[in-house]
Amino acid sequence: MSDKIIIFDTTLRDGEQSPGASMNTSEKLQIALQLERLGVDVMEAGFAAASNGDFDAVNQIAKQASNIVVCSLARATQRDIKAAGEALSPAKHKRIHTFIATSPIHMEYKLKMSPDEVVKRAVEAVEYAKTFCDDVEFSCEDAGRSDINFLKEICEAVIQAGAKTINLPDTVGYRMPTELGAMIAQMVKFINGRAVVSVHNHNDLGLAVANSLSAVLAGARQVECTINGIGERAGNAALEEVVMAIKTRKDIFGGLHTDIITKEIYPTSRLIASITGIEPQPNKAIVGKNAFSHESGIHQDGVLKHKETYEIISAQSIGLETNSLVLGKHSGRHAFKDKLISLGFDLDSDALNTAFEKFKDLADKKKEIFDDDIRALVSDEIIKIPQAYELVALLQSSGGSLASASMSIKHEGEIISDSALGNGTADAIFKVIDRISGISGVLKDYKVSAVSQGKDALAKVDVKVEFEGKNAVMGHGLDIDTMSASAKAYLGALNSYVKMKHL
Ligand SMILES: [Zn+2]
Repeated sequence: MSDKIIIFDTTLRDGEQSPGASMNTSEKLQIALQLERLGVDVMEAGFAAASNGDFDAVNQIAKQASNIVVCSLARATQRDIKAAGEALSPAKHKRIHTFIATSPIHMEYKLKMSPDEVVKRAVEAVEYAKTFCDDVEFSCEDAGRSDINFLKEICEAVIQAGAKTINLPDTVGYRMPTELGAMIAQMVKFINGRAVVSVHNHNDLGLAVANSLSAVLAGARQVECTINGIGERAGNAALEEVVMAIKTRKDIFGGLHTDIITKEIYPTSRLIASITGIEPQPNKAIVGKNAFSHESGIHQDGVLKHKETYEIISAQSIGLETNSLVLGKHSGRHAFKDKLISLGFDLDSDALNTAFEKFKDLADKKKEIFDDDIRALVSDEIIKIPQAYELVALLQSSGGSLASASMSIKHEGEIISDSALGNGTADAIFKVIDRISGISGVLKDYKVSAVSQGKDALAKVDVKVEFEGKNAVMGHGLDIDTMSASAKAYLGALNSYVKMKHL
């Protein structure tokens, strides 16, 4: 049996199913490239049959990824598998991941199919998927609540049909680590090396990572996980926790290893948080804001004397070198470029120029520039959505609860100006934008956060807006001024909406 644990990242598929985490194609592409830098083995890029937008995202990622297996999810139907196969066709390395539920409750109430029909459908799905690519993964949805003898029967049939990976998800996060480990051990013994055994654990009882690690010890050789543990409901197993546990406890995991470049963990976590607007909880293991800060005097004293008194992993090992001030007003283009490379960004010369100008503007307003500022600034630059509406100028005033905003916005080469009153400045700004675009939006979520330290920290605003009664769209804005950041965020959502409308 191999010593390598295959890391299958599903941030772009299961992660995107987190409430409020929907992403557009350029955002997904940016994440895909970072996942490749992180050293993920298989990336589930989406569910191609779900919508045109999903198909497009899987297809774009398939075109651009080079060293990573790109995967699309597909239900066990011809239509889904065909969409997955077509979206993946440009990929160098591709995988179709097809699934059907195998638990009594799912088969009876959801599928309304008998176990024999389920086996037949699964075999047909794997055989059809094999006509598009050799690498086919089959999942027994809700394996955690399925009968072990039925799991053996269906797995035998799909392995005969050519499935190379058998995934056994605890879809509802029900199992305890010892139970799940025992189930995986039985299945590993039964499958006996004819396919890779994989797990996909949900976190409803807070055990997704523990269950994944227990499965690894029982012989699973692929773990499906997401960055920051995002995903349906309580989320999935967090990639960074699974990887760092295996790395830190070599004594328990023997010769097992992953190929993850751990220094890319922190940058990846920041990118996902900034694109989805979902911040990890402060006490989140590995990537939470407080994961490496020591509050108690006794702990601080210990760490100063010898780091390992209270730290079992180093901040450097996950790429959290120092979030110290690195650049300022007098830093040149060369230093800026070096910094970007050290943070994992490789921009083409146009993007580099724009980012450098933005950096100079920021350095004029803000004394100290931190790594997180640069990360935010650059991810803003890389994620390019055509600017149908662009902020030119904003003027605001407020007294008590009544506020007014006047704005100039560039649209199709013309500058349009207007003003409005509102309940608070942000409300006034959003009203002006609605008036200028003629597209009315309802604000569903509004969040302000500071990107780095200091009174003059860069403000990041995330909004979720429902335009014309359609699905909510996210927008992000970055500025030293919170109201300008709010205007940019709302315009960002509007621009995404306009782009989606024309897709
Ligand atoms: Zn899932």
